[in-house]
Amino acid sequence: MKILFISAHPDDLELCIGEFIYRLNKIHDILIVSATRGEWGTVNNKLKGKWLAKIRENELKDAASVHGVESKKVKFFNYVDGGIKFQNQIINELNTFIIENKFDAIFAPEYYYTYYFHPDHMNLGKIFLYNIFKLNKHSRPRLFFYHSIYNNRFIRVNMRRTQKAIMKHKTQILIIGFFIALRPIIDLLNGIRSKKLLFAEAVREVDFENELQLKLPFIYKIIFNALKIGKIFERPWAAEEDQL
Ligand SMILES: [Zn+2]
Repeated sequence: MKILFISAHPDDLELCIGEFIYRLNKIHDILIVSATRGEWGTVNNKLKGKWLAKIRENELKDAASVHGVESKKVKFFNYVDGGIKFQNQIINELNTFIIENKFDAIFAPEYYYTYYFHPDHMNLGKIFLYNIFKLNKHSRPRLFFYHSIYNNRFIRVNMRRTQKAIMKHKTQILIIGFFIALRPIIDLLNGIRSKKLLFAEAVREVDFENELQLKLPFIYKIIFNALKIGKIFERPWAAEEDQL
């Protein structure tokens, strides 16, 4: 099987689903793509831009090697960090990419039922769902979302390997520190949800027939309204929902 792992930034996959990459790489043809090079991902203004982009490219390749993925299987699109919008040009470019590559499965950031509210992540997930929805039922790849709150696929985590891969993203030490502290809690909650594992990584496989029936938890609506960020969460294809 041909499997795509797509992320908005170079460190997203290790933070969420490194173990899925490790396991699936053993038996399938894996491609890792980061849509941006994360060139603005630092608080230090002097480091921002091309220099950081180059370093983060290598960090992702190093992290992928922890999962056994060769660096030639790690690619980058040229989108601007912070600039992934749900707009026609990006939608069409990614649609061509999806159709040309004929993936059997795609792992993308959760667009809606997420616990990580970065617009790049959410828009990228939306674009993948939107494009795959439009495909003929029989030619759709399976679609899995990571950092989701509605997970339905679980695997046991190897904590040491996961942390080793995360630590390759050295320029992201602030986020990494936060996530390394948080990961065992997330993994434990996933494990409880799985009903058979102690610590688990988890993803949500999209059920295309019922995707639009899923509802956002009520508490989210209160939070979004309070933060005035509700617009990001509007479903972009509302007018087309009847046809989906
Ligand atoms: Zn990210």
